[in-house]
Order: sequence, then C-alpha cells, then structure tokens
Amino acid sequence: MPKFNVILLFLVLSRIHVAGQPSTLKKDCEAINQINTAITNGTLSKSAAAKQFKTLIKRVKAECHFVAKTPWTFPLASYDYKAIGGTNGSGYSAVGYHYLDGNEHSAHPAHDIFIHDTDQNSLDDRTQKPVDVLAVTNGVVIACENQWQTGSSLRGGKYIWLYHPQLNIVTYYAHNSTILVTPGDVVKQGQKIAEAGRTGFNAYKKRSPTHLHFSAFKLAGDMPMPYNPYTVLTQAKSE
Ligand SMILES: [Zn+2]
Repeated sequence: MPKFNVILLFLVLSRIHVAGQPSTLKKDCEAINQINTAITNGTLSKSAAAKQFKTLIKRVKAECHFVAKTPWTFPLASYDYKAIGGTNGSGYSAVGYHYLDGNEHSAHPAHDIFIHDTDQNSLDDRTQKPVDVLAVTNGVVIACENQWQTGSSLRGGKYIWLYHPQLNIVTYYAHNSTILVTPGDVVKQGQKIAEAGRTGFNAYKKRSPTHLHFSAFKLAGDMPMPYNPYTVLTQAKSE
C-alpha cells in the first residue's frame, strides 16, 4: 500500500475511534455525577467520596479550556436579584453545611429565587410559559438528576451542578421541572440549562412557592465549600 494511503487510513480510523468514544472530560464528569449521587444518597463513605471527588475535579479542571466570565448572567431569565427571597439575601445560611453530608445536610447555603406562579403550575403567571434557568457563566456539567419522582425524599428534586474551573466555583440549580443537559456538557454563559419547577421533597409541597434554589461553592482543598454569591447576583446581567 502506498505510504499516502496508509496515512489516510490511519487518519480515518482515528477519527472513527474518537467519534465512537466519549471524551475523557465526559467520562470524568459522569464519574463525578455518580459520586455526587452516592454522596446525596449516603451510599459511599465520606472519606472515599472525598478522595474520588478530589481526583476527578482536578482532572476536569485540566480538561477544560474555556474561560469563565464575570459579571454573571442572572440564573432565571426575565428576573433579577429582587426576586431573591429574604431581606438582602437573608435566606442564606451556611452554618453547619457540609457537602459530604449529601441529602442529610442541614442549613441553607443558597438563595431561593421566586417566580410569579400563584397557581403553582410552574408557569410564569405573566407569560403562561416556563421560566428558563440559565448558566451564570461558562461551565461544564458535573452532575445532574432528572429522574426525580413525586414522593422521593430527595430534596433537590431535578438539579444541576456546574463547574467553572477558572473561578474555582461550582454552582447548583435545584427544583427544576425539566433538565436540558447531561454530565460532561460544556455550557455557555446564559445558556438555558433547565426550566424552573417544583421538584424536591419540600419544594413540591403546597406551602412552598415556586422557586429556583441557587447555590455557589468555592473549591477549597478541591472540595466544595459554601460561598455566598449574593453580591455577585446583585451585579448579574438580567436576560
Ligand atoms: Zn432553597
């Protein structure tokens, strides 16, 4: 076989190989998703979970080549920081929170951002349409849950975790009605990743007004630690 054809054959075969295999980034994010689910359900020891999480998040960081930007995009389309619950973000309380406690965690290291939905049908009363949940900045999906069913004790319901390597921040979006991404997806700032909803053990209940539960965590020692994003949210661009 002439040398040129050998090279061509090699190139074609290598393209087929790449197209047929999930990327390393995808595989590593899927592995983080599995660990995150195990942490949430309490089915993995905390020490094993921490060790695996740290190894994988470092790899994902090395595999991401996009830049995360500030100011952020506000995580709910057509809303701004004035929709955040509490006075000046007073709904945020991180004391006693540990990521490795999973679904059994205490505290509320988050801001609940309320939509206009008096009839609790997860549609905006003003438009009768779902409210888009947006990535606050460029990131990669490291975990998500889209199998939540009514009656499940899982508090976050249908949720998404994004990792923003350059900011060393993870953001969390919970109680969505629909999830539009999967682990390993690279998302752009302002990209629609979900629709706001009422999924989650407490969020589903009648006494809970429809809201997005939004958290941010700074990685310290490669583990997520609570970080209050209130000021960043007040400066975020509303879409
Ligand atoms: Zn909340």
